[in-house]
Amino acid sequence: MEVQLIHSPACRFCGKGPLHFQFTFSAPRELTRNLDSDTFIISACGSCGTFQVNPHPSEALARDFFSRADLYLEAKDPEGRGVDYLERSEARLEEYREYARAITPFLPPKGGTILDLGAGSGLMLSLLPDKYRRVAVEPNAFLAQKAKDRGLAVVNDWAENLKQPDPPLALLLFNQSLDHFIRPDLILGRFLNWLEPGGLILISGLINPLSLAARICGPNFRLWHPYHQICPTRDAVIRKLASYGCEILSVYRPYFKTPFGSLPSLLKGAYVLSKAWLLKNRRAVPSPPWPGNVQSFLARKKLLFSKVRALDESELQSEKRLPTAAG
Ligand SMILES: [Zn+2]
Repeated sequence: MEVQLIHSPACRFCGKGPLHFQFTFSAPRELTRNLDSDTFIISACGSCGTFQVNPHPSEALARDFFSRADLYLEAKDPEGRGVDYLERSEARLEEYREYARAITPFLPPKGGTILDLGAGSGLMLSLLPDKYRRVAVEPNAFLAQKAKDRGLAVVNDWAENLKQPDPPLALLLFNQSLDHFIRPDLILGRFLNWLEPGGLILISGLINPLSLAARICGPNFRLWHPYHQICPTRDAVIRKLASYGCEILSVYRPYFKTPFGSLPSLLKGAYVLSKAWLLKNRRAVPSPPWPGNVQSFLARKKLLFSKVRALDESELQSEKRLPTAAG
């Protein structure tokens, strides 16, 4: 396969820019087997503040990476220790349960479709009510089979190839997946236009470029990764969702409910961060897991017609016939 990095001239989250160089970081070799280089540049958008890998791996390279049969069998954590993907995924059960508890009361009562884009083994989706049509979109064949084994409807394909599902689309899940898309702005726009008014969106696991650990450790922040292509700030996510008519219900900073969070881990992390800050020793060790390293967002698309009180019934009917999908 041809190896190449692509330089995007504009921000891949807000579409604007300019992009300002921040620093370079090195990625472990097992993440860059299909790339010429293991050194990458992080730039920040002058308009929305989103940090992003740029130049970045092409879509073909990203697809090659995420469809590997062995990707989830040979995964390593930032300390280089082997991790069992499925065990690690199951260890997120408490975090996912928290999202499911928050989502379920707000789901549109009339039913509809729940789309999980980059569903992995389908754990998050399996926690949501089965009165909805639960569709796991997962390009990796190994993970797609795991989702099938849970009894979920599975589309073993790339989210970019999906046609509009039969309405109503009640919930969109980007669970630990939005930053893996080459063009998160385009994929978000397309699916948010299909989301039913009153429908929900969960975006979880976004890397927070303004977190304490990212600020202190800079290039050695543990979560920089050539295929974690965008790291939007909290405000950038809120503005992006608002531009599609979505209001935030909750912002999460998952730590204690993740496989990385515990009291001993917190104490160890405080020691490592203090040392890095006091000694300006930014190269000794990778940054620790720390509260605020990642953030998650639950939002709801506004009920657009609830404010149109001046219209009479016939006008409301014609409003409702307007197409909700703009592609
Ligand atoms: Zn931007």
